[in-house]
Amino acid sequence: MADLLLVNANVLTMDPARPRARSVAAAGGRIIAVDPGPELRAREVVDLGGATVLPGFHDAHNHMAWFGRTLSEADVRPDVAPTLDDLYAAVTRQAENTVTGDWVTGAGYDQTKLGAHPDRDGLDRAAPGRRVWLRHTSGHMCVVSSAVLADLGLADRAADVPGGKVAADAAGRPTGLLEETAQELVANLVRPYPVSTLADAIDRAGAQYLREGITSATEAGIGGGWIGHTPVELAAYQAARDSGRLRVRVELMVVSDALHTLAADPADGLEVGLDLGLRTGFGDDWLSIGAMKIFTDGSLVGRTAAMHDDYAGIPGNRGYLQADAAELTGTIIAAHRSGWQVAAHAIGDRAIDLALDAFAEGQRRYPRPGPRHRIEHFAVSRPDQVRRAAELGVIPVPQGRFATELGDGMLAAIGPERESWLYRQRSLLEAGLVLPGSSDRPVVTGAPLLGIGDMVNRRTASGAPYNPAEAITAEQALRAYTSGSAYASRAEHTKGTIAPGRLADLVVLSEDPTAVSPDRIAGITVLATLIDGVSRFDVSGRGLPVSR
Ligand SMILES: [Zn+2]
Repeated sequence: MADLLLVNANVLTMDPARPRARSVAAAGGRIIAVDPGPELRAREVVDLGGATVLPGFHDAHNHMAWFGRTLSEADVRPDVAPTLDDLYAAVTRQAENTVTGDWVTGAGYDQTKLGAHPDRDGLDRAAPGRRVWLRHTSGHMCVVSSAVLADLGLADRAADVPGGKVAADAAGRPTGLLEETAQELVANLVRPYPVSTLADAIDRAGAQYLREGITSATEAGIGGGWIGHTPVELAAYQAARDSGRLRVRVELMVVSDALHTLAADPADGLEVGLDLGLRTGFGDDWLSIGAMKIFTDGSLVGRTAAMHDDYAGIPGNRGYLQADAAELTGTIIAAHRSGWQVAAHAIGDRAIDLALDAFAEGQRRYPRPGPRHRIEHFAVSRPDQVRRAAELGVIPVPQGRFATELGDGMLAAIGPERESWLYRQRSLLEAGLVLPGSSDRPVVTGAPLLGIGDMVNRRTASGAPYNPAEAITAEQALRAYTSGSAYASRAEHTKGTIAPGRLADLVVLSEDPTAVSPDRIAGITVLATLIDGVSRFDVSGRGLPVSR
């Protein structure tokens, strides 16, 4: 007896053995049959009226708590606050809705569209006496109010900050603008974030994910580095789960700084890890520990990613590695030896070489079956690097969505000679690599259907082609956001395809992305999202079950 039988559906299973079906049955939270015969009986039968059903989407690289936090902040993106007056009005509203004494925060402003950066005096007028912190859309700078500058001892005079800048006017008075590493000063005032604050953010993010058809998300860095919110970040996900607010399945990458040496028997080979020997794979279908995340370089648009050749038009600038090459390599090999999957953030071809070399050396010295190491972004890669990634079984994790929101800046940064190396997809598949789907949200808007559309369309915001030879089909992009991401999480036997035994995580769409013109994919409606065979979001009007 099935709990649920979905009939009259256009099922795209993502399972090569049976790609298409008309019905799916689930019981106990698992799929038990695809196109079952008439003998199968079900407690509930739902006619989907021809709607399309896919495995739930899995964002293989996102920042869930960070995204959730932005949902409770002032939205000062250019389309919402096009002028400085609009921006300051948004700050005033945010201050009115924030408990006195708490920080007034916002994100997304872009001075190139506003005409100038906001400044401390404007923020002080908008929210008198309050601590205000507005982050730039790039994440590379921010502005703060006088109260924050006073906390930092920067109210009257700027200070030198290595790798960053405290901007000041002609008289030497700080304006409130803080660049690059100077932002850390502010972050250190607010960290560690309370677990309850983060659990609220995880709740808000999850609610949004369900509306977009996401059933699994891989969080790309907790517990350390500039990206972590608190050393006890896992506790926030557990708190969310305990209170019924972990709405999607989450796999947590742990930032490399959080790993430390373990006092284990040397024969165990557990050189580094978390207390008790926790490592990749610990957890269950709802909450688990994923890879160790390590940053090897910076960003392409910021021209800090480590390249072998100069950035276009900037002789001598080839970016840089985030740390000494030997240190990065040593950290990767120690984590590999200790049983971790490693996810190396590597954007430039030089950083990608470092990651591939380290993975190869780790495997040579400490062989392990199928470590499935990942390279996050894999943004600018030579043809030989693609071949080598395939030989090593490495999983590149590029973000299709970057094409639209960041593509013009990326094309300018690398110039025409390297365009064919930029954010590959098709050549990765042709080399036999597995391609996951991911957004890096909140760096860009993260709805999977937007990402899937971009993976097919490959155009920038200005309409320029974005290494169009790397475009893939809608079918391939759907596979990336389902079975590809599941593979990258070592979970292809539990999710990512619709087949007997898999978790009953499904998304119901108004149209079939493989049957519409590519520019219409982003406009398809998510009608329902099911996890464990239960509806978690439903505007289908078909009466999907909310419990079993
Ligand atoms: Zn990221």
